[in-house]
Amino acid sequence: MNDESRQYISDSIRTIPDFPKKGIMFHDVTSLLLDPKAFQLSIDDFAARYKDHKIDVVAGFEARGFIFGAPLALQLKCAFVPLRKPGKLPGETIGASYQLEYGEDRIEMHLGHVKEGQRVLLIDDLIATGGTLAAGIKLMNQVKAEIVECACVIELPDLNGKAKLGGLPLYVQVQKE
Ligand code: AMP
Repeated sequence: MNDESRQYISDSIRTIPDFPKKGIMFHDVTSLLLDPKAFQLSIDDFAARYKDHKIDVVAGFEARGFIFGAPLALQLKCAFVPLRKPGKLPGETIGASYQLEYGEDRIEMHLGHVKEGQRVLLIDDLIATGGTLAAGIKLMNQVKAEIVECACVIELPDLNGKAKLGGLPLYVQVQKE
């Protein structure tokens, strides 16, 4: 993706200070979704990057990872698997827990929907501390899938979330503070 497209995507994402609590700068991709040019640039860039990577599964994190992951999976002609908050999936699940600033959270996926040896791309809208992606990595390791890369629209590099990915590669389209 060229610098102009990268800038276009970045400019389409509004930032709301002090949400959900004081001191957090919330990078809101719902403004990107209003602009089909920005949304298309983002999905096309991911698709171009991964088209020759033989991806079997795009796994997206609830909820904004679904928005980018599902159209990408269609373009790559592969499966989409949602990674969900606890208690949402109706079938048998496996889960992985992760630490939040206060307390713990957990993500789950349907058992059998990612199989041993499958090539998986993990996707979310944003990486902050990296805890969410790290939980996704734990889940994929449990089922012995092969993680090709982690992908996000936005990275907050000051939080160094990349360090939590156990050396796996991370691709991001834009960086913010
Ligand atoms: P983390 O697990 O700390 O990397 O946080 C990433 C997850 O939390 C993603 O699913 C994001 O959607 C959300 N998130 C964390 N920080 C922000 C932020 N500053 N703006 C928007 N979303 C955020």
